[in-house]
This record gives sequence, C-alpha cells and structure tokens, in this order.
Amino acid sequence: MKVLRTVDDLVTWRDGLPVSQRLAFVPTMGFLHEGHLSLMRRGRQLVPHGQGQSVISIFVNPAQFAPGEDLDRYPRDEAGDLAAAERAGVDVAFCPLDPQALYAPDAATWVTVPALDDGILCARSRPTHFRGVCTVVTKLWNLVRPDYGIFGQKDYQQLAIIRRMHRDLFLCGEVVGMPIAREADGVAMSSRNANLSPASRLAARKIPAALDEVERRWRGGETRSDRLTEGVAELVEPGVLDYVEVRDAASLASVERVDGQVVVALAVQFPGARLLDNRVLG
Ligand code: AMP
Repeated sequence: MKVLRTVDDLVTWRDGLPVSQRLAFVPTMGFLHEGHLSLMRRGRQLVPHGQGQSVISIFVNPAQFAPGEDLDRYPRDEAGDLAAAERAGVDVAFCPLDPQALYAPDAATWVTVPALDDGILCARSRPTHFRGVCTVVTKLWNLVRPDYGIFGQKDYQQLAIIRRMHRDLFLCGEVVGMPIAREADGVAMSSRNANLSPASRLAARKIPAALDEVERRWRGGETRSDRLTEGVAELVEPGVLDYVEVRDAASLASVERVDGQVVVALAVQFPGARLLDNRVLG
C-alpha cells in the first residue's frame, strides 16, 4: 500500500494514473473500525484489483471542529489504521502529516449546503460543522477525482448533504451510501466510542434500543412523529438527548406524520463523546 504525505504527492500520483484506472475513495478521520473497513471493502468490490485503485484518506479535518470541541482528544492510531486498511485491500492512503495540509494560510473558500444544514439536526449544536465537512470533501474529491466516493449512513445528515453537494456541483463519479456497522450489542461503531467510560459504553446500548422502540411503534401503526419519539429522552438516560427528530429521508424536511421514507435521527451526549444513530423507516 502506498502512503502519500502531501497534496503534491497526491497530485503527482493522480496525474500519473492511466485513464483506464477506476478509483474508489473513502475519506476518513482515522481510528478505523469495522464501519470504515466495510466502506473500503465495498470500494474494493466496486473497483476490483486490476481495474483500478482503492484509495482512502486519513485526515482529522480541523475545519469541522469548533473551538472547544474534541479536536485535541480525537483518537488516533495511524500505524494500526494503515495495517487495517491494507488488509481491507486499500492501494493508496493519503495521510498528510501537516494538519493544515488542505488549507492554504489564506484559504477563504467554503462550501455550504444551507437547505440541509442551517439549524437542522446536528447543525443546531454544531453550526459550522458541515461547512467544514463539505469543504474538505470537495477538496479531496477534486484531488482524487474518484469514480465512487463511499460514505456511511451512520452520519446520515452528512451523507444527505454530500449527495446534494455532489449533484449540485456536478462533481465527477457517484456517491455510494453504506449501512451502519454495529457492535455485537447494537451500538453503532464510532471512533468516538473509544472516549467513553466503561459505564457510558454500556449505557450507549440504550440508543439502538430507543430506535428499536420507535420502530416498534411505527410497525404498530403509529405515524405521528411526536408520538413515535415520545419518551426517547428518558429511554437514553443517563445519556443526555441532544435531539431526536423524524425527517424526510432525502430532503431532511421536518415531517409531522410518516408518509414515505423517513429517517429517525438522534444525538446523545455522554461524558467524553456525543453519539449519533439513526433508523430509516418506510
Ligand atoms: P469518520 O472517520 O468518522 O469521518 O468516518 C468516515 C466514514 O466512515 C464516513 O463516511 C462515516 O459515515 C463512515 N462511518 C463511520 N462509522 C460508521 C459505521 N458505524 N458504519 C458505517 N459507516 C461508518
């Protein structure tokens, strides 16, 4: 597996590829787990050996963390990540050493998707998060020019925003969404789970259990969003519910009644980590 350390190295590598080579790309912030690796394996399936390259990036993007968020505490294990990526069939890993590698000192351009961002779900408590994500994904997408960019449904709002951005900006290739990989007890895999105390990690099980309860109500015929999500704050205690909302699965518009495909998305704060999960209904 080739490890590229600078944007110049990435450009040189990309420009040297024959046009016949197809590319699958998985951007990550590292501390890889089975969820990330499932995306990489999907990339390898989409672009088999001999037909192209499987590419990842490992870059903890400072622009998507607000002051006071967990940028400094974000878990890292580059050696472990590179070994795991290689086992998942990755050919090329872009892992810049400089945390500002993708930002010129006077970088002044942001990419935003206000219709799916402003005041919606995670953006309410993290108002500058998605412009950081969109900006870095656009930069990486333009550098790699993939045939497939692969993202997890675990970060549902992020995936919806990236799909819209990709369409609106006529970016090359296609966006591929992948299902949430879960631990044996149902907790969605996340690099941030490493920052939970053993007691909080145990309590995190209440998040998928709360989504099970919402789904049970929906299967029982309930369609009102407020009744579907009633009591979820208590179900996830001692975690502190940041939000639970029922939204249109594509537009993220708020819905009062389930009619068509929706996503039930929630965020729960535990000491050390804010955890996301969601369930698509319909
Ligand atoms: P991150 O390193 O957290 O930025 O995540 C990199 C990519 O992996 C994103 O597309 C995430 O949605 C995806 N991802 C993270 N956790 C999971 C999971 N449990 N299941 C599936 N995809 C995931």
